[in-house]
Amino acid sequence: MAKVVVSQHPLIRHKVTLLRSTATEPKKFRELVREVAMLLAYEATADLRVHSIPVQTPMAKTEGDELMDKIGLVPILRAGLGMVEGIWEMMPAAEVWHIGLYRDHQTLEPVQYYNKLPVHPTVQVCLILDPMLATGGSAVATVDILKRWGARRIKFVGIIGAPEGVARLSEAHPDVEIHLAALDDHLTPAPTRPEDPPEGYIVPGLGDAGDRQFGTG
Ligand code: URA
Repeated sequence: MAKVVVSQHPLIRHKVTLLRSTATEPKKFRELVREVAMLLAYEATADLRVHSIPVQTPMAKTEGDELMDKIGLVPILRAGLGMVEGIWEMMPAAEVWHIGLYRDHQTLEPVQYYNKLPVHPTVQVCLILDPMLATGGSAVATVDILKRWGARRIKFVGIIGAPEGVARLSEAHPDVEIHLAALDDHLTPAPTRPEDPPEGYIVPGLGDAGDRQFGTG
């Protein structure tokens, strides 16, 4: 079973409640996604390795710390895009590698349409960024891609997870830590009436994270 961390931080809980609300407009929604992503990344990177380096302050020479791990931010297009900028500001030396996957509406399985990873891995730690861990299909496919690439330490950073997605990702990749702001109740079933929501959405969730960021809903 993978390590699953659901943040209990009051700031994150407050901001996730605002994200869920239908009253939250796209501009505010994007700000919140950015802020929650930064707070989650702060928690998810607490075990990054550092080594000692000498540093000269105005007062004295002392020992400081320098990050050893090169970090790769891997947003899953398109909803993961909004999680990049804030985290990148905190770790400007990170590389950003985009993975494009869409969910086939019939099978709910991910289909890759964009991947420009170089031949050899260039980072030691990859943070996969996707606000919604729903069925887990895209997350598993992205970890598969990164492992084939040669990535060794991979963490998933998402905002809301469903039990189904957490189970699928942790069964397929028990070595991948999962960091979430909230773990919700269930996924929507296949619709039986025209007014039913589409299948595979997180309940209570926040709706379509891509549409709500980009105003396309
Ligand atoms: N993707 C979303 O944007 N929302 C969900 O609830 C599930 C998948």
